[in-house]
Amino acid sequence: MNTIESWRSARTRQDLVLAPGEAVLGGGTWLYSEPQVGTSGLVDLATMRWPSIEDTPTGLRVGATCTVAELARIRRREGWAAHPIFFQAASALLASFKIWNMMTVGGNICRSYAAAAMVSLAAALDATALIWTADGGEYTLPVADIPTGNGTNRLAHGDVLRCIDIPAHALRARTAFRKTALVEIGRSAAVLTGRLDESGRAVFTITAATLRPVVLRYDALPSSVRLREDVLEADGYYTDPMGTADWRRAVSAVLLEEILEELRAWS
Ligand SMILES: Cc1cc2nc3c(=O)[nH]c(=O)nc-3n(C[C@H](O)[C@H](O)[C@H](O)COP(=O)(O)OP(=O)(O)OC[C@H]3O[C@@H](n4cnc5c(N)ncnc54)[C@H](O)[C@@H]3O)c2cc1C
Repeated sequence: MNTIESWRSARTRQDLVLAPGEAVLGGGTWLYSEPQVGTSGLVDLATMRWPSIEDTPTGLRVGATCTVAELARIRRREGWAAHPIFFQAASALLASFKIWNMMTVGGNICRSYAAAAMVSLAAALDATALIWTADGGEYTLPVADIPTGNGTNRLAHGDVLRCIDIPAHALRARTAFRKTALVEIGRSAAVLTGRLDESGRAVFTITAATLRPVVLRYDALPSSVRLREDVLEADGYYTDPMGTADWRRAVSAVLLEEILEELRAWS
């Protein structure tokens, strides 16, 4: 990275105010993977010492610097029917254990690739992002609303993702998960999730197959015909070397129907 001239370890919120050309550094697995010609300085988030995992009165808080490996092995709390989805989502990332141990939840979400598995996880569990702004303010938004395309998002320059909050009701829900890729060792082409809350409400998500997360909500488990129609009509299926838009649409419908059946067996 021969454009990098400075490195700072962030320890206070003031340290996160970026100078021109600076970028925040999560695990560095993407930043170090290709030239960053527009970047001249890095600001390391690791030294902020944010807790990786915190139990809160409303659910679970995952710090932006929590690694995917830490989240994948999170201990199951009593009543957490959704617990398997943490490991399942982490496994959807095409990455060796070396990358797993470095890449952060925040880096994955903020890189905002369509195949961002931490976005899949967060969308499945209705997680909310807490964003710190450069002027000292903050705001929240659903993680599913952060990506605007494959590798683009609605964060302003200087916004820092501090953490994501997962509500307790989603952690208690039954979940089901599917991932497919066109080649065995390939980036996810479609990641599908389903969630059945104790209230009977159901949530299905499509990621990796679409440019932005698609979240389908129902007051109760839908019929397979209704779900299939909604999946086929969803926006944003795209074509790239990992699969064509038509194939992504079709495979999403098939796999979400499987998920529906799996959730139906629990109800
Ligand atoms: C071998 C390999 C396999 C990969 N497989 C996949 C895959 O299957 N799916 C996929 O989606 N991606 C994949 N990637 C790319 C992937 O998105 C990133 O490598 C990883 O998730 C980034 O996390 P990181 O913590 O290392 O982020 P970094 O590389 O540190 O940063 C990534 C970007 O996010 C910004 N950023 C980091 N943290 C924050 C924060 N808290 N707030 C605001 N901005 C922040 C950085 O400035 C940078 O622009 C892969 C990369 C590699 C090298």
